[in-house]
Amino acid sequence: MLISAIPRGTHDSEPDQLLKQRRDFIARTREDNPPLLRAWQALYREVAPALELPALPAGLPEPGTFLRGSSGHTSIVKLPNSLKLRLPHAATQLILELLRDSVWQRRVERVFARSFWHTNGAFFETVASEGKACIAGSDGPLLGHVLAIAHELGHCLYDEVNGWGSTAALFESEAAAFVVEDVMVRAVLASAADDPALALKDWSHYLELQDSVTRHFCRLETAEVIAGETELSRAASPEFLSSRRSYVERVGMQWAYGFAAATRRRLRAQVARSSIAGALSFITAGRA
Ligand SMILES: [Zn+2]
Repeated sequence: MLISAIPRGTHDSEPDQLLKQRRDFIARTREDNPPLLRAWQALYREVAPALELPALPAGLPEPGTFLRGSSGHTSIVKLPNSLKLRLPHAATQLILELLRDSVWQRRVERVFARSFWHTNGAFFETVASEGKACIAGSDGPLLGHVLAIAHELGHCLYDEVNGWGSTAALFESEAAAFVVEDVMVRAVLASAADDPALALKDWSHYLELQDSVTRHFCRLETAEVIAGETELSRAASPEFLSSRRSYVERVGMQWAYGFAAATRRRLRAQVARSSIAGALSFITAGRA
C-alpha cells in the first residue's frame, strides 16, 4: 500500500509532536528508503492531473471555521448553523426512502443491516463484518447523521460493487464516499429544509470551503513528499494542521481526498439534473 502510516514513537498527541513525527518520517524516507520514495512519486504523478481544486477564497479561513480537536479525517470545516437541521426521521430511514425501488435499495438495506449502530455521537467509520464493509456509527435525525452515514455508505457500496485492496480502489472508494455524501445531503435538503434553495446554496458554499481546505492539504503533501519542503506547513498553525487526522496519521492520503473532491466537483453538474440512482451509477462505471 503506497499510503503509508506514520510510525508513532510516543503516545504524545500534542500538535507539535504529531507534526514532528510526520516530518521526521518523510525526511527519513527521503534519505533511507528510495523504493518507498519512488512509489510515492509514482502515485503523485498518476493522481496529479486529477487534483484541480479551487484555491481558498481568501487565504486560510478563520480558526473559528474549523473543528478543534476533531477526530475527523476530512471534516475539518464546521457545518454552518443553518445546516444543523433536525429532520422528520432518522438518517438511515431517510436514505432508504430516497432509494426506494431503485437498484440500490437492496444493497443499502444489506449494508445497514450488518452495520454497528451505537449512541456514541460523532464517530463514524467503515469497518469490516465477516469480510464485508459496513458502517460503525450512530443513527439519528440530524443532517450531520445523513452526511456522515452517507459518506461511509459510499465506501460500503463501492466495496460491494468493486472490492477493496488496491491503491486505485482506495482513491475511487473515497470519491464514491464524497459523491454519495453530496447527493444524499442535497436530496434531504431539497425535501426537508424550510427554504430548500437557501439550504442548497449554504451546502454548496460549505463544499467549496471544504474543497479549498482539501486543496491546501494536497499542496502540503506534494511540497513535503515530492519537493522535500516544509515551509508551507511551517506557515500554518500546528493546531490547524493536526486537526486533520488523516494528515498526521498517514502520508499520501491527502492526494486521495484531493482526488475524491475533484471527482465530486466534476460529477456535480450532471448529478444535479439526474436521479440519485443515476448519480450512484458512477460507482458501477469504474474510474470516474
Ligand atoms: Zn472516507
